[in-house]
Amino acid sequence: MKIDTLVIATRNPHKADEIRAMLAGLPVTVKDMREFDNCPDVEEDGRTLEENAMKKALEVHRCTGLPVIADDTGLEVYYLLGEPGVHSARYAGENATYEDNNHKLLKRMTQVPARKRHARFRCVIAFVAKGVEETFEGKVEGRILLKPQGSGGFGYDPIFRPDGYGVTFAELPAEEKNAISHRGRAVEQFKTFLQS
Ligand code: IMP
Repeated sequence: MKIDTLVIATRNPHKADEIRAMLAGLPVTVKDMREFDNCPDVEEDGRTLEENAMKKALEVHRCTGLPVIADDTGLEVYYLLGEPGVHSARYAGENATYEDNNHKLLKRMTQVPARKRHARFRCVIAFVAKGVEETFEGKVEGRILLKPQGSGGFGYDPIFRPDGYGVTFAELPAEEKNAISHRGRAVEQFKTFLQS
């Protein structure tokens, strides 16, 4: 499929920069919401990551008239039956910071032994262009540590250690995180779709 321009539907600069880096090399002009102040914020009130990602992509496509990708991501802790999941951004409340969310999760898991601390990040990317609506999913399995480690990345990165690694996402160089992350894997599928 041939497109000239692609809008990343996020106002989160961390996410926008990660996705931009992942799209480098594609022959498209990449824009993000910092260039579209006139477009309203989209409320993430869906019951699933898929619903939220598609809603964001459709609304931003309507506003910009351009091809759009939107992602929605959740951290799913198996012991907590998938929590915080679709509520990851506001786990500790409406205006919660990343630290608040991490603190709440660690507190909920105080008594949970290491062997039961499995979790995964799941990212859904929705792509909307004229006549096209597609979704792509990426996942990465790992564990929730007992306390935060590292200062890179964002969100739950300091408490998530991907399987096969001795460090958290917040301790990995950006390129290494992007190569194995939920978002990196979803973007790879999207790139394959675009190139097909
Ligand atoms: P969003 O709704 O897709 O923006 O993501 C929900 C929440 O998940 C964010 O506020 C972050 O706390 C967290 N999150 C999303 N992506 C990542 C990531 O790559 N690493 C760590 N946390 C993330």
